[in-house]
Amino acid sequence: MKMTLLYIVLAAVMTACGSTGTSTASDSTADSATTTTSTAQPVFDGNAAYQLARQQCEFGPRVPATPAHAKCADWLTSTLEACCDTVMVQTGTVQTATEGKLGIKNIIGTINPQASQRLLLLAHWDTRPWADNDPNAANHDKPVMGANDGASGVAVLLQLARQLKESGTTLGIDIVLVDAEDMGVNDNEDSWALGAQYWAQHPHVAGYKPLFGILLDMVGSEDATFTREYYSMQYANGFVDLVWKCAAGSHFINAQGGAVTDDHIFINRAGIPCIDIIDMRADSETGFCPEWHTVDDTIGNISPATLAEVGQTLLNVIAQLEQ
Ligand SMILES: [Zn+2]
Repeated sequence: MKMTLLYIVLAAVMTACGSTGTSTASDSTADSATTTTSTAQPVFDGNAAYQLARQQCEFGPRVPATPAHAKCADWLTSTLEACCDTVMVQTGTVQTATEGKLGIKNIIGTINPQASQRLLLLAHWDTRPWADNDPNAANHDKPVMGANDGASGVAVLLQLARQLKESGTTLGIDIVLVDAEDMGVNDNEDSWALGAQYWAQHPHVAGYKPLFGILLDMVGSEDATFTREYYSMQYANGFVDLVWKCAAGSHFINAQGGAVTDDHIFINRAGIPCIDIIDMRADSETGFCPEWHTVDDTIGNISPATLAEVGQTLLNVIAQLEQ
């Protein structure tokens, strides 16, 4: 994804939503990556999510049309099959900006397929072929490992599915792991989010109409700041309010952030309100964390505590929607 412009307004730290769980995790050590709650709300396991991010990285960079990508697709499919009611792999062909035509796989896990009230959850599982924001130009043609930019969002959604399998939910949940988000080039918005664009044109269920969607992207950094992304506010501000009210922890900031070209734009354009939980940095030239599109986007820069906050926020949102 790429930042298109930056809007920063006064920040105020959110309070977590009413009766739902609140996170006390504050650093990246494994022992701290638990959340505490004063009620019977389920607690998201950030350490387990971290392991799921690590497992994705062990395949190597998941660059489309590579063996690592193919192997990871199989692993994601079987991992979802263990905790979803149905799993489908949507294959398609897309046109890239620089690499010609490309075969893609969107991997879709469904919980409670019969439920009419549905929540759409998305993350991209591919990684960028080029670390073209690396400070060392010699790395610009190397692939990005994507521990944060790819694996982190997927890891949270996989762990969420596992926990929902244990706890049960009355809500319908659709987890859509989209491919080929990160092969874009500057000044060509349509060159990004190719898997999401394909899914938006070919939804896995005819007439698919969830309540709304939540996209996770770069949700693993110890220093993450999740501000209210500009396009999310333009298209789906009421749902931004809902999610930020349920936010579990200090990484969620109640302030407007930048505008990011990401998968959610194309979901919104297809008529499904969709927000983006993404780490944006007001103090950075790129608008993102220092590891963004560099060879340093590795598992060592991922924090179980941050993953726990994001997963707990999703559990809180689901509990809210179930009421
Ligand atoms: Zn990216």
